[in-house]
Amino acid sequence: MQRLDIAIAGCGPAGLATALLLHRDGHQVTLFDRFDAPRPVGSGLMIQPTGFAVLKQLGLADALLDRGARVDRLHGEAGISGRVVLDVRYRALGRSGGFGIGIHRATLFGLLHDAVIAETISMETGCPVAGIEPSAGGRRRLVLDNGRRIGPFDLIVDALGTRTPLAPRCGRELAYGALWSTLDWPAGGELDQTALEQRYRRASVMVGVLPIGRLPSSAHKQAAFFWSLRADRFDSWRSAGLDAWKADVMELWPATRPLLAQIVSPDQLTFARYAHRTLRSPAEAGMIHIGDAWHSASPQLGQGANMALLDAYALALALRVARDVPSALAHAVAMRQRHIRLYQMLTALFTPVYQSDSRLLPIARDRLVGPLSKLWPATKIQAAMVSGLVGDPLGPLNL
Ligand SMILES: Cc1cc2nc3c(=O)[nH]c(=O)nc-3n(C[C@H](O)[C@H](O)[C@H](O)COP(=O)(O)OP(=O)(O)OC[C@H]3O[C@@H](n4cnc5c(N)ncnc54)[C@H](O)[C@@H]3O)c2cc1C
Repeated sequence: MQRLDIAIAGCGPAGLATALLLHRDGHQVTLFDRFDAPRPVGSGLMIQPTGFAVLKQLGLADALLDRGARVDRLHGEAGISGRVVLDVRYRALGRSGGFGIGIHRATLFGLLHDAVIAETISMETGCPVAGIEPSAGGRRRLVLDNGRRIGPFDLIVDALGTRTPLAPRCGRELAYGALWSTLDWPAGGELDQTALEQRYRRASVMVGVLPIGRLPSSAHKQAAFFWSLRADRFDSWRSAGLDAWKADVMELWPATRPLLAQIVSPDQLTFARYAHRTLRSPAEAGMIHIGDAWHSASPQLGQGANMALLDAYALALALRVARDVPSALAHAVAMRQRHIRLYQMLTALFTPVYQSDSRLLPIARDRLVGPLSKLWPATKIQAAMVSGLVGDPLGPLNL
């Protein structure tokens, strides 16, 4: 394909990875984001073997391993009974290199952003994108909030996340979200530095700790701490006060005491809501939606950033082999669609087991699914599911 003039809207993992890949393939790329200085929001996330495969292609694997925390297992216990209801070990996959990497979003962002800067890819900040408009020759312009028109471009990549203004609204906001905080990993203590650990009371209460390695500005190891909360209970959580909440958390999981001791203000906890949505048509003339702009879900299976990286890679691959933009976009969508549909379905299925008001689902989880999941082949299936490898997403991408 000839050299294209491409606008990438959004500097999250999807946008930054796409910019690197397409710039390296010789296209003229410009990134746009609304932030004055692009910065990520949120706390920790987990890079799975799928996302890792893309970051390796980008030459960022060593830096990721250096800054992140290797996660070998996911472990969950029901209440104070100590009954193990989630026990996923990556080694059940039987392939070398099978592990997760806990990382702060700022660190992942920093790795990708530094590479973009090092390769002198154009980036325009302070650009709130509001829409697009057609131009001559099937090209498109970006329209900003203030009416400014930029372009025209041969291709616009919408990587604006789940609330993108470039796609029709669809899907639904989930009732449950979570409070997140980034805290120092406590020295000593009972928390496992190689595990994502969770404790549950029914499905309505969940507390979790994920090791996330070191922040760009710090040499100290960090933990992402999260507490599941229904959005309409946020005000009552705040008015009940920190002490009542800490007592509740400690009753469920006493080992979190050294983490809770670091929380002295409710402002240290950020409430994140999740939306479950999938666009019916992720590509149209001169534009493709990728990452959360195409599909988003609760982070229960921890796939969003990984899927965003796979979308970026699929687009780059398709542009390499296709004869024109429309067939490249169709090819990129075809390479990702099956995996996306599968994981959107799996996430919708599993989220209520861990975050809902259901009384029956957690009983089935604790008494039936938990014990069964420790038996082969369930051990292997679970590890493949958490790794993002069900449906063979890497095969079509030759990764
Ligand atoms: C609490 C939480 C925990 C998560 N945990 C995990 C996990 O463990 N593993 C995992 O893989 N995923 C996880 N996810 C999901 C993951 O964060 C997302 O799937 C991922 O960030 C999507 O990347 P993206 O680049 O598509 O979009 P985003 O990261 O949302 O980036 C969008 C970018 O677009 C910019 N933008 C938005 N609107 C505009 C506009 N109008 N104009 C200009 N710029 C705009 C934003 O500033 C941002 O830079 C989690 C999500 C949350 C909320």
